[in-house]
Amino acid sequence: MTDSPRLPGATHLECTQTGEHAESETLQTLSPAGKPYFACYDLDAIKTEFTPGNLLGRSADLWRYEEVLPVRDPACQIKLGEGWTPLLDVPNVALRMGVGRVWIKDEGQNPTGSFKARGLCLAVSRAKELGAKELALPSAGNAGSAAAAYGAAAGLPVHVVVPTDTPAPIIEEIRALGADLQLLDGLITDCGKVVRKGVEEHGWFDLSTLKEPYRVEGKKTMGYEIFEQLGGRLPDAILYPTGGGTGLIGMWKAFDEMQALGWISDERPKMFSVQASGCAPIVRAWEAGKDEAEPWTDSATYAAGLRVPQAVGDFLILDAVRQSGGAAVAVSDSEMHEWVHLLGADTGVFVCPEGGAVAAAVSRLLERGFLLPQDEVVLFNTGSGLKYVGMTPLS
Ligand SMILES: *Cc1c(COP(=O)(O)O)cnc(C)c1O
Repeated sequence: MTDSPRLPGATHLECTQTGEHAESETLQTLSPAGKPYFACYDLDAIKTEFTPGNLLGRSADLWRYEEVLPVRDPACQIKLGEGWTPLLDVPNVALRMGVGRVWIKDEGQNPTGSFKARGLCLAVSRAKELGAKELALPSAGNAGSAAAAYGAAAGLPVHVVVPTDTPAPIIEEIRALGADLQLLDGLITDCGKVVRKGVEEHGWFDLSTLKEPYRVEGKKTMGYEIFEQLGGRLPDAILYPTGGGTGLIGMWKAFDEMQALGWISDERPKMFSVQASGCAPIVRAWEAGKDEAEPWTDSATYAAGLRVPQAVGDFLILDAVRQSGGAAVAVSDSEMHEWVHLLGADTGVFVCPEGGAVAAAVSRLLERGFLLPQDEVVLFNTGSGLKYVGMTPLS
């Protein structure tokens, strides 16, 4: 094995609510305030070398951004081909929607068929580097299979707890990837309780989103990628199907870093959070002008990734949406389903219901004046439609 030089990594962690600092070279969970930590980097020190020009020719995965990722030892970068997914220019969709331009960021092409790969890649790499022995997480499905995949690649056991009505292809996948799988008749919040018990009784390390600092670091790379793939600029608007909101929060963090690095000005895309009408805590809070979201009761949607009744990063999602001049909007399962078919026939991409959801939101945002007819828009397709085979719309 060659001895690669160590990477700079993070300098420290910072509580997203209080700004309190914590050490980044031991395993950390939530801050003492019970809020997520963000990893901080010495951006001034890397600024002259870490430039868009110097990225050309780097590996076609998210590790091309390794200077702004927390892993220090290159041997701990667990790689399955995550990130650098296509940003597809789809003019016929733009025409159908009546907006200036549309790109689909096709995250279905990640390992395990969803963008959960980005987050779990970083979380598992870092957990291994910092000495975790057993990993666990509650999941609506896709995070579970991504954790299973990276756990298998890292040689670490993973315990996954998912609701019984998780799409069957995902359950098969988690089993095939060798994780210890528990099915629970309940919601992801109930699955979380089982994981917390394992943490207390067996010392499992909890990979729940934003409860450890590094899944968001993996997901933030989507922000860097969009900038690079558009030739060094950002779009007018980004539509993001929101469960825990990690990707939206992550991209917002990436934009701050890119500004500090001198890549962009203080201009930001309008950030739109799209949820299912059967589980829309962020939309309800945004409409009421609240800073935090009340838990949603009786969550029901076939878009498993959107069935998140309570998000630990709710205040971060709402803050990014408001600061950007965006909005939060809900669509029904049948609207998502309709758009899965429209996008598929228009583009050749079999999107997941969550991808259908953001497409369905466009007309509503145009009607309300949040999107303008000339806007250039990135729609996130967060996973492959193949993972939802057998699932039918609930509303
Ligand atoms: C998890 C998931 C989402 C929601 O992502 P968050 O970052 O938790 O908001 C959307 N789509 C799919 C396919 C998912 O698996």
